[in-house]
Amino acid sequence: MRTHKLCNRAVFEVRRAFRALWGTALVVGVVALLWQGWFSDLRRPGADYARAVAAALLAGALAIKVAARVTTGQRRRSPRREMLSDIELGLLLLSATYVFLSVLGGITSPIYPLVYALVSFLVTFHPLKTGAPLAAAALGFEAVLAFGPGAAPGAALAFPAHAGFIGVFAVLNVAFLHAEVARQRREHRKRLDAEVQSMREEARDFRLISPGLGAESRLRTRAEEEEKLSQGSIETIHQQLLHTVELLRQSLGLKTCALLWLDGSGEKLKLKELSTSAQNLAEGALSARAGVFAAVLREGRPCALESPRLALLPYYQGPEEVAAFVGVPIFEGKTLRGLLVGDRAIGPVFTAAEIDLFVSAAAQIMRIVQSERVFQAVERSKHEHERFYRASTALNRALTLEEVYVAALEGARGVCDFDFAAIAAFDQRDGGHVISMAMGEGSDGLLGTQHRDAASVASMVVKNKLALPVSGEWRDHHETHIFDTGERIKGFESLYVLPLLVKDEVLGTFAIAARRPGAFSSDRREMLGVVANQVAISLQNGRMVQSLEEQATTDGLTGLVNHRTFQERFSAMLGRADRHKFRVAMLLTDIDHFKKVNDTYGHPTGDAVLKRVAAILKASARKIDIVARYGGEEFALVLEGTDRAGARQLAERIREEVAAQIFESSKGPFKAMLSLGVAVYPDDGKAKPDIIACADQALYAAKHGGRNRTVCHGETTALRVAI
Ligand code: GH3
Ligand code: MG
Ligand code: MG
Repeated sequence: MRTHKLCNRAVFEVRRAFRALWGTALVVGVVALLWQGWFSDLRRPGADYARAVAAALLAGALAIKVAARVTTGQRRRSPRREMLSDIELGLLLLSATYVFLSVLGGITSPIYPLVYALVSFLVTFHPLKTGAPLAAAALGFEAVLAFGPGAAPGAALAFPAHAGFIGVFAVLNVAFLHAEVARQRREHRKRLDAEVQSMREEARDFRLISPGLGAESRLRTRAEEEEKLSQGSIETIHQQLLHTVELLRQSLGLKTCALLWLDGSGEKLKLKELSTSAQNLAEGALSARAGVFAAVLREGRPCALESPRLALLPYYQGPEEVAAFVGVPIFEGKTLRGLLVGDRAIGPVFTAAEIDLFVSAAAQIMRIVQSERVFQAVERSKHEHERFYRASTALNRALTLEEVYVAALEGARGVCDFDFAAIAAFDQRDGGHVISMAMGEGSDGLLGTQHRDAASVASMVVKNKLALPVSGEWRDHHETHIFDTGERIKGFESLYVLPLLVKDEVLGTFAIAARRPGAFSSDRREMLGVVANQVAISLQNGRMVQSLEEQATTDGLTGLVNHRTFQERFSAMLGRADRHKFRVAMLLTDIDHFKKVNDTYGHPTGDAVLKRVAAILKASARKIDIVARYGGEEFALVLEGTDRAGARQLAERIREEVAAQIFESSKGPFKAMLSLGVAVYPDDGKAKPDIIACADQALYAAKHGGRNRTVCHGETTALRVAI
C-alpha cells in the first residue's frame, strides 16, 4: 500500500517537473539544432524527408506550448512566477520565429524584419525586468545563427548590423512606452484637477463655502472640511434643480427650460440646469448684459415675449424655432441670484397662470439651495461642536502649562482658521505681558519676551477685561499693535484678543489673528470666548500644579533646591557619572559664628544673610550643577565633571565673595565668613553617603583649622588664609 502511494507520488512529481520544464527544454533543443544549422539544411535540394517531418513536429510542439501558455495565462500566480512564465513564452516565440526564419532563408532572408517586430512587441508589452532579458535572448539567437557551425555564408558579417538594430528597436520602444505612460498620467492628473476645480466653483456659486475659501494655494484643514461637506450638497442640489426644470418643461410643453446662475462678479450667467430638445445651444458662460437677460435682470420682473428674434435669446447659438419666451428672475431676499427661462417652438404666448408657475418654480429653486445651505450649516456646526467638545475635554485634562497651550490651540482651531496665535501671561505687579505661547506668521522670537506697552491691544484688553477689537476686524492694523510696536505681526485683517479671566482676575491674554477679513464672525467670537474661559481655568490649574511642584522641591527662604530634592538629584548625577565616567565634586558650606549674627542683629537680619549667600552660590554655579540649602545655614553645591582643583578654586572664589560682602543692620554694617569642605567622586568615595561624610569631615577640619577657609578631603594641611 505504502509503496504504491510512493510510486504514485513519484509519478506525480515527474509529471509536474515535466510540465514545468518541457517548454524550457524545447527552447534549449531548438537552440542546439539552430546552432548545428539543422533547419537551414532543409532548404537544400534533396533534403532529408525525416528532418522535414521532425521540424514540422517541433513547430507543432512550439505552437501547442504557446497556445497552452496563452490560454492558461489568466491563472493567478505570484509576480515572480508570472515573470518567469512570461520569459518562457517570449523564448518560445523567439524560438518559433528563428526556426521559421532558418527554414525560409536564415539571417539574410527577406522576412528577417519579423524579428524586429517581435522584439518590439516583447519589449513594449512587458515590464523592463522581462523585456530586457528577452531582447538579450534575441541577440543570443542572432549570434547562434551568425556564428554556429551551420551558419549561412555572410551571416557573421551581417551580425553587427542586426544586433545593433535589435538593440536600437528595444531601446526606442522602451523610451516610447515610458513617455506614453508619463503623458497619460499627466493627462489623468489634469482631468482630476479640473474636476476638483469645477466642484469648488460650484460650491462657491451656491455659496455653500465662503467665497474667500479655496483661493489660497494651500487649503487649510477647515476649508478642506467645508469642501468635503459641500460635495454631497452640490449633488443633491443638482438633482433637485434638474427635476424642477424637467417638470416645468414637460408640464408646459416647452422646447427649452434652463436655469442660469449669476457668477460672483454679477457679469456672467452660468448654465446650471437644462432640459431641452433644441440642437443649437450656446456653450460656456453667457453675458448677463446680452439680449433678454439684461431686461429681466434690470427690471427684476418676469418677462414674456411673443416670437422673439433669436438674437434676443443668448442661450441659442444657431437657428431654432421659437414662438414664445418667458424669463423670471430668481431672488434671494433682495439679491438677484439668477434667471429661470423657458420657450416654446409653437403655440401661444405664455399666459399669466403659466408665468405664475415659473415664478413659484423660481422661488422653489431658491428654497432648494437655501435649505441645502442650512443643512450644511447644521452639519458644519455639528462637526464644530465635536471638535469643540474634544478640545474642552483636553483643556480639562491638561495639567502642565504645555498641555494647556496645546489644548488651547486645538480648541481655537475647532472654532475658526487663523494664521497667528499667542498666549501672554499678565503680571499684575509690573503690568508686563510675558509671551508663553506663540505660533504662526510673525511669531518667531516672540516666545518668552516681555512687553509693557500700555497702548497695546493686549493692555487694553487687560484693562477693560473685554475682548478686542469688538468686531474681530483689525481695521486700524497700521496704527495698533497686539503687544509691542516692534512686533512683526503685520498684514492681518482679522484680530481677536481675549482676556483670560478667572473670578474677575486677568491671568493673561489669548490673541488670534487671520490674514483674511471676516475670519472671526460673531458666533465664532462667542465660541472663542468659551474657549478662552476654559483656557483661563486650565491655566490657573496649571500654574497651581507648577507652584505646588516648586514648593515641594525648593526652599522657601532662599529659592534653592531643598534637602530632599538635593538628595534625589545628587543620586541621579552620581548614576550618570558612574555610567559616563566623569568626576563630581561636592562643596559643603557653613556660615561662621552664625548664631552670633542672629543674637546680635536679630533673626530677620540672619535671614537676609542667608539669602545673600544663597544668591552668591547660585550665581557661581552652572545650570547643570546642584545648589541646595542643605539645612539651617549650611549649603551644598554639587559640580558635574569637576575635579578637586576646580572645586577648590570655585570654593575659594565663593568664600572670597562672601567675605567681601557688607551687610546692613540696625546696629551698623557687619561681615560674614564661610567655611567650606570639598569631597570628590570617585576619588574620596564611590557611594553618596561616603562623599557627603567626606565633605562634612573636610568642613569640620576647616572649622577647626580657624574658619573662613576651604579644606579638601584628604589634605593633610588645610589651606590657611589670613583672617
Ligand atoms: P560655626 O562657626 O561653628 O558654624 O558657628 P555657628 O554659630 O554658625 O554654629 P552653627 O552652625 O551650629 O549654628 C547654626 C545657627 O544657624 C543656629 C540657628 O540659629 C541658625 N539658623 C538656622 N537656620 C536659620 C534660619 O533659617 N534663619 C536664621 N536667621 N538663622 C538660622
Ligand atoms: Mg551649622
Ligand atoms: Mg555655622
